[in-house]
Amino acid sequence: MAVKQKRITCARCGERETVTKGERGPASIYCDLCRDEVKREQNALRAQAYRQRKASYGGGSALNALP
Ligand SMILES: [Zn+2]
Repeated sequence: MAVKQKRITCARCGERETVTKGERGPASIYCDLCRDEVKREQNALRAQAYRQRKASYGGGSALNALP
């Protein structure tokens, strides 16, 4: 099975990296280390935003604010 590789410059730390391009989507714009970090950050941000939204709506109408 052929694996396509692509050279990128990490959008986070600026490190030159060779990433494996998946068949189902674009290659990551982050190096391996940052990819994990970014994923963790996004999860944390999402959880934080959810908590803030819930707090600002007092819980009652929080469902209406969801997309
Ligand atoms: Zn990086």
